[in-house]
Amino acid sequence: MKKTPYVIAGNWKMNTTPSEAANLISTLIESGIQATQDVEVLVCPPFLSIPAVVSGIGTSGIQCGAQDCSHEDSGAFTGQVSAVAIQESGCSHVLVGHSERRQYQGETNALCNAKILSALRQKLTAVYCIGETAEQRANGEMKETLQQQIKQGLHGVTDCGNIIIAYEPVWAIGQQAATPEQIRESHAVVRTELVGMFGATANTIKILYGGSLNADNAAKILAVEHVNGGLIGGASLKPDAFASIVGTAKELQK
Ligand code: PEP
Repeated sequence: MKKTPYVIAGNWKMNTTPSEAANLISTLIESGIQATQDVEVLVCPPFLSIPAVVSGIGTSGIQCGAQDCSHEDSGAFTGQVSAVAIQESGCSHVLVGHSERRQYQGETNALCNAKILSALRQKLTAVYCIGETAEQRANGEMKETLQQQIKQGLHGVTDCGNIIIAYEPVWAIGQQAATPEQIRESHAVVRTELVGMFGATANTIKILYGGSLNADNAAKILAVEHVNGGLIGGASLKPDAFASIVGTAKELQK
């Protein structure tokens, strides 16, 4: 059965200067990457590289997202970037709550919630990143961690139409991907929690898997139930690998 269109998203993290980003987006497009009805393609460069990517996207249908946004629309928040500015710069999406921001910037579920609400006010799609640490998994706290992250992060969201969840087990990022069985189990927890919060309409919320997804494991991972795409770090900087993952998603839709 044909799945809902996949979202294949690249998180470039703190990689690429503006000129490097211009080169990377044009190389990705030269590699044949194109969004279609079956596969949405998103790239999330660093803030200063957003204009280069937005102008390089051309007619590829690739969308651009930011990696973070402020919880406020404007004001005395030195160094922060508002969802208002992100939207005006041509982005359609913003990542919120990536585990690296939770780890290095101390972001909490409550702060993620304010950022998500700020993104939604600007009609951006918020890609809310959640996932348990190795310790939480070892302690049998995977389910509870995901439930808390969802409950607290999406508190006050009335319309889930512009929400995407990225399930990224922290222990899998830049290490080794979770197994299809582990992914199936976690994505089912996420789906159940979302349906509990938003009702049947939550069945349309896309749940991406992230954590060492690459050209070799994409077919197995994307075929798992409730996996509606991937958030990809390392492999999204390698045009051939990213093109291969997008191609795999297209194949699975046939
Ligand atoms: C990420 O950090 O969002 C990620 C999925 O990274 P990687 O694919 O490199 O594990």
